[in-house]
Amino acid sequence: MDYQTKLADALRSVKDEGRYRVFADILRHRGDFPRATFHTPEGARDIVVWCSNDYLGMGQHPIVLDAMHRAIDECGAGSGGTRNISGTTHYHVDLEAELADLHQKEASLLFTSGYAANDATLSTLARVLGDCVIISDAMNHASMIEGIKRGGGPKRLWKHNDLAHLEQLLKDIDPEQPKIVAFESVYSMDGDIAPIGEICDLAHKYGALTYLDEVHAVGLYGPRGGGIAERDGVLDKVDIIEGTLAKGFGVMGGYIAGSSVLVDVVRSYAPGFIFSTSLAPVLVAGVLASVRHLKTSNVEREQHQERAATLRAKLAAAGLPVMMCESHIVPVMVGDPVICKQVTDDLLNDHDIYVQPINYPTVPRGTERLRFTPCPVHTDEMMDDLVRALDQVWTRRKIRRAA
Ligand SMILES: *Cc1c(COP(=O)(O)O)cnc(C)c1O
Repeated sequence: MDYQTKLADALRSVKDEGRYRVFADILRHRGDFPRATFHTPEGARDIVVWCSNDYLGMGQHPIVLDAMHRAIDECGAGSGGTRNISGTTHYHVDLEAELADLHQKEASLLFTSGYAANDATLSTLARVLGDCVIISDAMNHASMIEGIKRGGGPKRLWKHNDLAHLEQLLKDIDPEQPKIVAFESVYSMDGDIAPIGEICDLAHKYGALTYLDEVHAVGLYGPRGGGIAERDGVLDKVDIIEGTLAKGFGVMGGYIAGSSVLVDVVRSYAPGFIFSTSLAPVLVAGVLASVRHLKTSNVEREQHQERAATLRAKLAAAGLPVMMCESHIVPVMVGDPVICKQVTDDLLNDHDIYVQPINYPTVPRGTERLRFTPCPVHTDEMMDDLVRALDQVWTRRKIRRAA
């Protein structure tokens, strides 16, 4: 067996499809985000980051950093174990109570990432409930798809945000069979938002549980940062909420919130939870400070929405094909994987602007795009620089403008 050739072939096929990922080697500047240093073989230079999911800049917030410094001084670096074997620190217990309260649920459970939370929870529920059908929105994130696959039960794909199609699928399933409707609130590539209340009402009418990924909404929406379900006043209609601690909250980790029994089942059955070392207390302490701050402060959320609306308006005024959506995501359509990569290379090399190209399989072929995530820390001047740079690149590469 020629392993080397076989492995190299696998890489070549990724490259041939234009899906080979090159990571930008950067270092964010503490207290001066979105500025960062970009490291290249030719040396280092300063850039402005336009594609971070640290949406509110909480990963740089003094309250968060202070809490992390204090935690490391108090209890050291790692947790030292799985949750069951010495890895449940008081920080973990406090944060789970804080997150349950945030979503008005009886309990919550921490994971090392949002990915692990989706994967472990969906696969475990499918197995424990037995022959459980999962009805999954067609645009669901890879971590949900993977969890559903690993659960090994039947699955139905439901047309993105299409209530009529969802009802048709629900009607066709045996009323006695367990079912879960799994979906997201803010879809992070198109920036559209699900009608959570209506989806939950339909699901409950047909006896299904509702599972909502609020990864791109927690911290960012709702009067206390509880996400779109909180904003829409429908928290009680969602049976299981899943979130990340790495995006809006700016640190790391993931979680679910739901009824005590449901959370206890995942805690007791999910191998991905049980057999993995718990989050480092320093991370949990940072998250705790971030969640608590955003429960009472709306300043970051208001600035965030204002910045997104301003950037969208500036791009549209320049005739650039910005996608209009009701969330904080600002996608600009390119529609070709090779040109998309060229555009981002031009921006980085000629304008010190960093945005990652979004290509298949993250988005459907033919809809390759740039995805900007303006934060409260992006200034008007940075936005004007960005629009000017895009305008030049669009002309140089002869890319289609807005209709
Ligand atoms: C990023 C993301 C996740 C995974 O969260 P991490 O904490 O980064 O592992 C889950 N769902 C969606 C929709 C995401 O975009």
